[in-house]
Amino acid sequence: MPGTLATHRTLVKQIDFLGEFLNHVPIRRFFEKKFPAPVMVVNLAGAKAIAERTLGAAAMADDMIYLEYGRTGIGAGIISGGKLMHGATHAAGELGHTHMIEEGPACKCGSFCCLQAIAGAAAIQTRIRKAIADGGGSELLALAGGDPPNVSGWMILSAAKVGDKACAAIVEQASKSFGVRPSQSGESLQSFGSRSGSAPFSLQGKVC
Ligand SMILES: [Zn+2]
Repeated sequence: MPGTLATHRTLVKQIDFLGEFLNHVPIRRFFEKKFPAPVMVVNLAGAKAIAERTLGAAAMADDMIYLEYGRTGIGAGIISGGKLMHGATHAAGELGHTHMIEEGPACKCGSFCCLQAIAGAAAIQTRIRKAIADGGGSELLALAGGDPPNVSGWMILSAAKVGDKACAAIVEQASKSFGVRPSQSGESLQSFGSRSGSAPFSLQGKVC
């Protein structure tokens, strides 16, 4: 599920991507009634980490992190000692909602200055739309065939590589956000998990 899960991972606590209609729904019980098979409710990045470890590039590594950067947000699936880490509050890997700076944009989670609100796909799209409206992004528009709705994340990266200043500035700002220390000292990336190990590091299913 692309969201946070409540106690014992039996129901959805909050899903930003799909709206509120699934919040607090006992989703595990629902599927257990429908299918004669064990049901486990796992955050999207956690599920992908399991798949990557079992079938993909992680090749059954005992310690690995799968990093998810996509339409649903920024998150991580952390596997330590061969087991998926859930965290004391079932928020392990919720990297996208780590506070990065003291003052910044609002996040869909209700807080401010989350990594997702600064460097997530939606935040980048908003900045690109403004840059295009202000007359920038010429290389990007060329890649998109002159049609702004066709712009994709890969086009933004490609345009930045060939010198589109607006795209380069947006990519640089987003990239820096991943290296900024969280603003709240007590948070200390607690939600990110306990340790990463030396295992493969994947981005959208690609080892990097
Ligand atoms: Zn947030």
